[in-house]
This record gives sequence, C-alpha cells and structure tokens, in this order.
Amino acid sequence: MPILEAYGPTTARGPALRPASPRPLSHAARKFGVLPRPTLEWNAEVERETAPLYGRIKDVVPPVEWPFFAPYVKAINALKKERDAVILAHNYQTPEIYNCVADFVGDSLQLAREATKVNAKVIIQAGVHFMAETAKILNPDKTVLIPDSRAGCSLAEAITADDIRLLRERFPGVPVVSYVNTSAEVKAESDICCTSANALQVVESLGSERVIFLPDEYLAKYVASQTTVKIIAWKGHCEVHERFTGDELRKYRESDPSIQIIAHPECPPDVLAEADYTGSTSGMVQWVRDRRPRRVVMVTECSMADNVKVEAPDVEFVRPCNLCPHMKRITLPKILDSLLNMEEEVVVDPAIAEKARRAVERMIHLKS
Ligand code: SF4
Repeated sequence: MPILEAYGPTTARGPALRPASPRPLSHAARKFGVLPRPTLEWNAEVERETAPLYGRIKDVVPPVEWPFFAPYVKAINALKKERDAVILAHNYQTPEIYNCVADFVGDSLQLAREATKVNAKVIIQAGVHFMAETAKILNPDKTVLIPDSRAGCSLAEAITADDIRLLRERFPGVPVVSYVNTSAEVKAESDICCTSANALQVVESLGSERVIFLPDEYLAKYVASQTTVKIIAWKGHCEVHERFTGDELRKYRESDPSIQIIAHPECPPDVLAEADYTGSTSGMVQWVRDRRPRRVVMVTECSMADNVKVEAPDVEFVRPCNLCPHMKRITLPKILDSLLNMEEEVVVDPAIAEKARRAVERMIHLKS
C-alpha cells in the first residue's frame, strides 16, 4: 500500500542545545551526595582485573586504547555497586561501553522493556535523551541520569506535541502511532508508541483503516509497503540513516556478488530496495546470529557492527561508517562523572509522564 500523505518539515530541526553554564546541584546530587573522583591510573592491578573484559573486545578495540579505557571501566563498575545503579546501553554505543560497563543492552524496545524490570535505585541511560525520558516515564520513582543531556535525536526534534494536535484536527478519529524516538510531550499526545521492531504489528493492532504514523517518513513508507492500512506520515528523518544511498550499496554488491546487505528501516527506500534483509537493530543482530554470513554490509550506525562482531568474530563486517553524533556524546568519562555527581537528572512533568506512560505501556503489553 503506498503511503497516503506525508506532512511536516522537509528537514529535521536538529537537537536542541541546552545551556552549558554551571547549574545548581540536582535533586539527585542532593539526595545521594557527590563522591570524590577515584584515581584513574593504568597499572598492573587494573590490567589484571580488566583483562577478561578486554578479552571480549580485543578484536574491535586496539591494545593501545585499552590503558585509557580500563581505569574508567574499573571505576564505573565499582561505583555502580556503591550507587545501586544499572546502565542501559543502546546498540549504537561504543564497544567499551556496550561490552564492559552496561548491565542491559539492546534496541529501544528491549531497553524500554528492561527499564520496567529494573530493581536498582538509579538508572544511567547510555543512549540519547528520548531513551532516558522513556526510562523515567516507566520508572517515575527511580532516579534516571543521562551522562550528557545534549545527546538528542533528529527524529525526536522533528515533531512537537502541537504538531500532533494539528494532525488530529486535520484527521479526526484517526489513531496516532508515535515512534519511541519522540519527546515525552509527543508520546503523551499519542495513542500508542512503536519501535522499528514492532511498528507493523502496532499499526495493524489498532484495527483502523488509516493511521497517523510519525515522525519517521522512511519507516512509515516501509510499514506502508507491508500492510493494507493507509499510513499518514510525517517528514522527519534520522540524520544518520538518511545518508546511506542505494548507489553505494550497489557498488558493494558489484565488488562481491555474494555479499549480504542488511538495513535498518529508517533508511531511504532506494537503500532498502538493495537490502537482503530489512529490520530493527535487534532484528539485524538476530539475522547475523542465525545466518552467520561470510561478509555482510550492516547499514546502520557504525558502532553496531563492532558490537555484533564481538559475538560473531567469524563474520566479516563491511562498514559504510555513519556515526550518530548524539550517541557519541556518551563516553566512559561522562558515565563516570554521572555516577560521581549524580548528573544529569532526567525530569519529566508527572502529568505528561502519566499520559506518555499509557502510550508506551500499550506498546509493551502488545502480544508479540
Ligand atoms: S541514529 Fe538517528 S534515530 Fe538513532 S539517535 Fe541518532 S539521530 Fe536519532
């Protein structure tokens, strides 16, 4: 079914910059206190204690870099216990975060599900701001921190709650499905959320002939190609996935006809037309686990190939390397600072959180 209509800005608005001026202590810092900075020294003890962790990532992190990372890894893992904290890390985080300090890893849907099961007092989101907001929405009584609140997302910045209210006026009675890559205010105005892993299932679960699906135009087009439900889309784009082109993938295929191409549905249609498999990041990980291809082009954020390589060392990953600048704001030094200073605390207005929670939980409780 071709997409019905698409509304909105033709380019993403880009992440909102927050002021960098010194702020007063957060509520979390006052509640938990600020801890002194540990010694961050590379020595024989640190090398011995972190050797098993380095063993996991040695194929993707050169030995020359480990003496910088290892003292942070040791300090962060000790501080997590002291703070009763867990780290949720998205698939696009760098290997030393994903493999060495994270407690739970996955895509947006997996992290949202994990966030409902967390027992710790503190959640650190190694990901972007909308993910930290989702964790807070699902855990209103826990302290949620993001190591750098400037870690935004071009999709989340592409639409506002006012935009949704206007769409509802234009299409009365048509349900609104929002990708989780949206702000809490947008989720609060939506009937249900979705991720790229369950977008088709969510759209079809509503029993409606037409659905407003936002903000990702390309994901909307992909869903529209898989269903008879008419999709009303929004013109938001992921600034990372929209950079891939069908041309570059055809060149990979020409140079090696046996190469496999797997792509994320946030990519433009000409990219998906070249793919042997289209799926969410969790879908791509599973595809590699099941198929064990000899060579694969993973058409998504660059770090993900490094993280999958750790568990599939026999697979050769070809990386058309597009980095997400927002995901890359999260680093080991910032995670350490976050644990020491209990910054930056994620706060969501309780009235908005309650409405947004309904949309997120409705998605989580859909039977898979
Ligand atoms: S990769 Fe794209 S969708 Fe994901 S956080 Fe970055 S800008 Fe947003």
